[in-house]
Amino acid sequence: MPTETFEFQVEARQLLQLMIHSVYSNKDVFLRELVSNASDALDKLRLEKLRDDTLDAEVTDLHIEIDIDKEARTLTVRDNGIGMSYDEVGKLIGTIANSGTATFLKELKEAQDEAGAEGLIGQFGVGFYSGFMAADEMTLVTRRAGESQGTRWTSRGEATYTLETVDDAPQGTSVTLHLKPADPENQLHDYTSPWTIREIVKRYSDFITWPIRMVPVAGDGDDDSAPEPETLNSMKALWARSRDEVSDDEYHELYKHISHDWREPLETIRLQAEGTFEYQALLFVPSHAPHDLFTRDFKRGVQLYVKRVFIMDDCEALLPPYLRFVKGVVDAADLSLNVSREILQQDRHIRMMQRRLTKKVLSTVKEIKTKDADRYATFWREFGTALKEGLVTDPDNSEAILAVASFATTHDDEPTTLAQYVERMKDGQDDIYYITGESRQSIENSPHMEAFRDKGIEVLLLTDAVDEVWVDTVGEYEGKKLRSVAKGEIDLDAESDDKADGERAKQAEEYAGLLGWMGEQLGEDIKEVRLSTRLTVSPACVVSDAHDLTPALENMYRAMGQ
Ligand code: ADP
Ligand code: MG
Repeated sequence: MPTETFEFQVEARQLLQLMIHSVYSNKDVFLRELVSNASDALDKLRLEKLRDDTLDAEVTDLHIEIDIDKEARTLTVRDNGIGMSYDEVGKLIGTIANSGTATFLKELKEAQDEAGAEGLIGQFGVGFYSGFMAADEMTLVTRRAGESQGTRWTSRGEATYTLETVDDAPQGTSVTLHLKPADPENQLHDYTSPWTIREIVKRYSDFITWPIRMVPVAGDGDDDSAPEPETLNSMKALWARSRDEVSDDEYHELYKHISHDWREPLETIRLQAEGTFEYQALLFVPSHAPHDLFTRDFKRGVQLYVKRVFIMDDCEALLPPYLRFVKGVVDAADLSLNVSREILQQDRHIRMMQRRLTKKVLSTVKEIKTKDADRYATFWREFGTALKEGLVTDPDNSEAILAVASFATTHDDEPTTLAQYVERMKDGQDDIYYITGESRQSIENSPHMEAFRDKGIEVLLLTDAVDEVWVDTVGEYEGKKLRSVAKGEIDLDAESDDKADGERAKQAEEYAGLLGWMGEQLGEDIKEVRLSTRLTVSPACVVSDAHDLTPALENMYRAMGQ
């Protein structure tokens, strides 16, 4: 087949331009991205071979290799993993499928200055293309395990790339960067220096479970050029090492590798379970909610390993849907390497593990809340909405969720917990009042609020769609009913007891005629017309029954895929 030239998809081109004219100061991370891809490719091959013994692939010495050529100014990252077919190269390398990247580009366009742009690049993993931060040309040669023909992809990072088939490609993928001219000012980022490469691999990729070997650089003066390839990483699975052996930075690098988020996580959670069903978990709470957290195709779940062998990404069975933002690794000792998603869903041990991990995450959030108000505020702002789904779907843990939940309130601008609300309740107030709606502003000005404002009774301001559901499912907190100020009958005077029963009866009589007439006029459109004490200024308001669905709710159910 002759060499064919293709155009990059528009988004891909934009991203490439950004890499070439990179304003991002930390160019070193391109190596982490290439090593990360190589590691994924080795994981995939091992797994495929495990599932299909007949796959014609070499799996005895799976590894990553880094090869420097000072003369030619090239750097090659090679793996003997799964590789890609001709079609896959075009699909995976020529386009940007990741929806997060599309959002990233949109935000980038809106970012006015370079500092803003740099901050944004730091927030999104940009993967393979990051090679163009260091290279003016990239070549990728790959052969999919089990196939005979290989593919060569080349690009200068401009509008086009070329594809051609090659006959003698080894199994797996090699990516060669033709490095940009050296910057004499900046020896630290000389990617032809073994010292630099060693440092970068140590810093970003030490935990990678495959050996990362550096091919000896011939005649390199500053290197003690061993003739044997040198393994640069320790390959120790971080989750299997004790806490005091591992630095926070190392944990954070693992987080970035598995989450494709370039920012530091908010919290690292470790759990070692011993006994009949042994497992180790290393979980991370991100510092920012991903853009697609509330879409139906959000990939939830953590990575599953069995005795250090990667089994699957996005393993849903390990955490409930409302904790879908949690990333991490669970390594179980006693599962079959062939375990499938279906089996996991039904496995008793996995269900126990899920319960334990859920409790651990919730207790960690509680700890953050007690210890660090700022970090808790970040957590709740980013993930509170997701967590509240648990109040609906996970009754066993609703107490633990309520303990870490906070809500906007008429009391002041700071969110309040239910415990704090209860402490402030007025004498004679039996219920916890709330109002739901689209925004704080719209509900604060609602006529339903008038009497509450007048009497100085605190009302929770609930603006998430899920709020309308959990208040019903949960029903009460410490024996106090949760009551909507906009639903059903509310009699504040009974609570403050400042109006005699007799007077109310008199009023009812006085207005009976008017109410009857209004009822007739409005007919089918309403259920009934009631005399109310909830208004002080507005003459009337519409109230729904305690159990009606609202439009916001319908939206939420749709988002949750129900
Ligand atoms: P991501 O790793 O986030 O998916 P990348 O831009 O790093 O994004 O890579 C895009 C895709 O290209 C990968 O998902 C993978 O399918 C494929 N790919 C990249 N490098 C390799 C490799 N060394 N071996 C096999 N496939 C690869
Ligand atoms: Mg990648």
